[in-house]
Formats: sequence, structure tokens, C-alpha cells
Amino acid sequence: MTRTGYVYHPHFLLHDPGLAVVGSPPQPYPYMDPEEHVEHPRRVGRIHELLERTGLLAQLDRIDVHAASLDDVALFHTRDYIQHVIDLSARDGAGDAGQGARLTRGSFEVALLAVGGAIAAVDAVLAGRVQHAYALVRPPGHHAVASMGMGFCLFGNVAIAVKRALARGTAQRVVVIDWDVHHGNGTQEAFYDDDRVLMVSLHQEGLYPSDSGTLDEVGIGRGEGYTVNVPLPAGTGDAGYAAAVERVVLPIARRFRPDLVVVSSGLDASRSDPLARMVVTADGFRSMTRSAMALAGECAGGRLALVHEGGYSQAYAPLCGLAIFEELTGVRTEIGRLAMNDAIRRLRPTREVGLDAERAIAETLAVYGRYWEIAAAASPAAR
Ligand SMILES: [Zn+2]
Repeated sequence: MTRTGYVYHPHFLLHDPGLAVVGSPPQPYPYMDPEEHVEHPRRVGRIHELLERTGLLAQLDRIDVHAASLDDVALFHTRDYIQHVIDLSARDGAGDAGQGARLTRGSFEVALLAVGGAIAAVDAVLAGRVQHAYALVRPPGHHAVASMGMGFCLFGNVAIAVKRALARGTAQRVVVIDWDVHHGNGTQEAFYDDDRVLMVSLHQEGLYPSDSGTLDEVGIGRGEGYTVNVPLPAGTGDAGYAAAVERVVLPIARRFRPDLVVVSSGLDASRSDPLARMVVTADGFRSMTRSAMALAGECAGGRLALVHEGGYSQAYAPLCGLAIFEELTGVRTEIGRLAMNDAIRRLRPTREVGLDAERAIAETLAVYGRYWEIAAAASPAAR
């Protein structure tokens, strides 16, 4: 058995959000012509191509992917919303499935396949077919809420795959680590009152959705304390992310003792992303992957499933993806080495945690220290 499973399907490229000016109001943008939507099929196509050309693809255990069933999707979404997506997707011109979740004819089928991809990765890991797995799916999922699509997301791929595993009893305690640069509001909604799922979102504060992912969102009822938001300031960089993972995410997740680790793997914290300002390098993603693998190894028998989310730099995000796959497989590729050593290396990653990031981490620890014994891991700023 090779250790790393891989879920990919060429049909993931068929969903086409069309032309847009991202960030524009709902009415036609009056000042500029629309351009190619940033959630472009090439986002995942180029990562897949890079895996092929580096030879890494041959190291991966391909996992078959099938469209999810409507009953699976209904584990999270309302039947009304699902029918709305079906109706829109059958129309020429299509439309928007909610807020900023554009779709065109046939998008529904691709979205079902993306959910199926997340399910396939989680199931393969839980069945022990592979040690860990990466589902390179699109459209992304973590913004979609039960009753509508949001932020390029139609269905909550991770939320559905985790709910399904819990319902089937193949997993009992799941930690979701969402390192997409935006808040994982949809996944948060899915498990807000659920103490079987620890939902941890690292994100750029106030980015999208601008009013969610704050420190006062901690879960409700049985789920209080099981929603952990780590809002970080713009410019946090590799060192700040590593500090947030080491001081906040890992201590809480270890106390939670998951039997499965799922990562919502957006690559839009990258240093070249057009939609965010977090300046994380490929090595930063390598480091976060290492942490997720270590956590899974310590608590969950190594069981780790990563599901692709955002990441909009067509030039740089593929290198971040490659770094993740290199870390998962333990194989360093020649192309990866050359690319990382080239111009990219000269743009040095941040080596120190900035003052704003220190403060953000300290504030996060102060809030979640009420629920988890993590005081020993307090940041220097909090001591
Ligand atoms: Zn994102």
C-alpha cells in the first residue's frame, strides 16, 4: 500500500463560474469589464499537471470518485436549496446559488462530484486503504451554508463528508483544521452545536465573510468551545501561522483527541494570492502539513484527509500544493527543488512572529483557555 491517496477527476474542471469582477456589488459592475473568474478550472488543473510533470502522481494511490447522492448532500443542506441548485444548473445562463456562488449549466453535477471526492478521501482513510489522502476537488465547499451557496462554494464538501462518517459510525471524533485564508463559516455552521467535531479555522481577520470567524463565535449548547476561530492579521506569514498552529491549534486538538483529522486545504494564504494578504510560502504549507500529519499520528492512528478549498494564484498556488504532496509522500521532486530555490526563495518568508500576530494569538488563547487547558502553551506576549 502506498501511503498517500489522491482524489481527482477531470470533470472537476467543467464547473465554470464565467466572467466576473470579484468583489463587485450584485448589480453589473459599472466601471470595469468583467474578467475570468478567479475560481477558474485551471486552479486545480495546474496542480494536477504539476503532480504529473514532477512524477509525484506515480507515487500516489488513486482513489475512485463518484457523484455523491442527494441524501448525502441533504445531511447538511436543505432539500429546498439542493432543488434550487438543480433548477439553476439546468438553465442556460444559470445564475447565483446564493451570495457569490455563481454557477452555469451543469455545475450541479460537478458539485456532486466534488462532494463525492471529499467523501472518497475520508472513506479511504477511515477504511485504512491509505494512510492519508488529498481530494483535489472543485468547486470548493467551506463557505456554503445549509440553505445557500456562498463565496464560490455550492455544497459543503467537508461538512457533508464528516457528517456522513459520523452518521455511519466510522468516525466518532473529528477535528477539522481549515487553513483556507477565509473563514470556514459553512463548516462552522454545520457543527456549531456538535461536540463530536472540533472545527478550527485559521483565517485573515475580517476578510470573508467579513462578519464571521470572530472570537465570540465559540459554538453553542453541547458544541460550546468546539468551534475555535483563529483570526489573524494581514501579513501574518510563515512564522505567525506556525506559531498559531503550535500554540493554539495543536494543544486544543490534542486535548480533543480526534480519531480523524480533516484539513480544509485552501492555498489562498499564499504569498501571491490576489484575494488575501497572508504571505505564506510553499514551505509554510509544508510546515502546516507536517503538523497535521503529526497530530493525526499522535491521536488518530495517522488518519488524515485533506480536501481542497480556495487558492487563486495560478502561478504560485500549484507550488504550495506540490509542497503539501511532497510532505505527504516524503518524496522531494527535482522540479519542486528548482522552483522553490529560484526567484521564490529570494522572497524570504517571515522568520519572526509579528506583534499583531502575537496579540491575535494571545487573544485567541485567552478566549479558548476557558474551554481547554492550554495555558501552558501561552504565547510569549501573554506571559
Ligand atoms: Zn478561501
